[in-house]
Amino acid sequence: MITKQNLHMHSTFDDGADSCLDMLLACRQAGIVSAGVSLHSPMRFETDWTAKRDGVDAFLRQMEALKSDLSGTLQVFTGIEWDVLSPKEILDSFDYVIGSVHFLPVSDVPPSVDNVPEETENLIGMYFGGDADAAAERYFAELFHVAEEKRVQICGHFDLLTKFNERFSFFNPESERYIKAGQRALTAILDAGKVIEVNTGAISRGWRTNPYPDRRWLLEIARRHGRVMLSSDAHACANVVTAFEETEALLRSCGFKEIVQYMGNGEFERVPL
Ligand SMILES: [Zn+2]
Ligand SMILES: [Zn+2]
Repeated sequence: MITKQNLHMHSTFDDGADSCLDMLLACRQAGIVSAGVSLHSPMRFETDWTAKRDGVDAFLRQMEALKSDLSGTLQVFTGIEWDVLSPKEILDSFDYVIGSVHFLPVSDVPPSVDNVPEETENLIGMYFGGDADAAAERYFAELFHVAEEKRVQICGHFDLLTKFNERFSFFNPESERYIKAGQRALTAILDAGKVIEVNTGAISRGWRTNPYPDRRWLLEIARRHGRVMLSSDAHACANVVTAFEETEALLRSCGFKEIVQYMGNGEFERVPL
């Protein structure tokens, strides 16, 4: 395993199963030398999987303590997975920001694209009259907020909307409209200089056999010399480096010669693949 860093992990501060300490120790055990726990940003509406507003300070304090407790054995960063519909004011408190789209803002309580298959199916039916390409266009349009936010360094799970697609085929990733919408979002994100994470989270959850983004996008990112990093989006200790070796091989097969690793202060270094 070439990858020595993982910045996308969750803990009991949001919908993760394990503590920040246990997640970080699991990383160290797996050969990771630099790791970050990334808090799901609090939303303006009720959810059962994002951080609560009053949990943010406790998370920041705990991560500061862990940085010194683990110093010398693991480099620790404090991260946030910022959903584009959540407030931006707190972003300055974190070492890095992963920008993600989980919801489509089509109602007061926006439906999520990746919660459960029924919800994804319903949102296409109820809000887009069954036109999955229109839902995909809306999803990819939301990704422009990731491109536009200066404090975001990393684009999270680029095509999250396809989470359930291997079993349910809600979207047609070969359709012209889908591809065009995805290409426009990808161009905005690359032009803004964001790093794109190659995220194995849906593999550990049993929904996908390949990471996000799909191979089509990986080929395009490689062709455009975009920067990528691996992440597991782990919600439990057992998954901190799930499918990393296979994903490195996939990236090589797509033409990537390197991945990047975060150094802090918005800087990345290149690591040969
Ligand atoms: Zn996410
Ligand atoms: Zn996540």
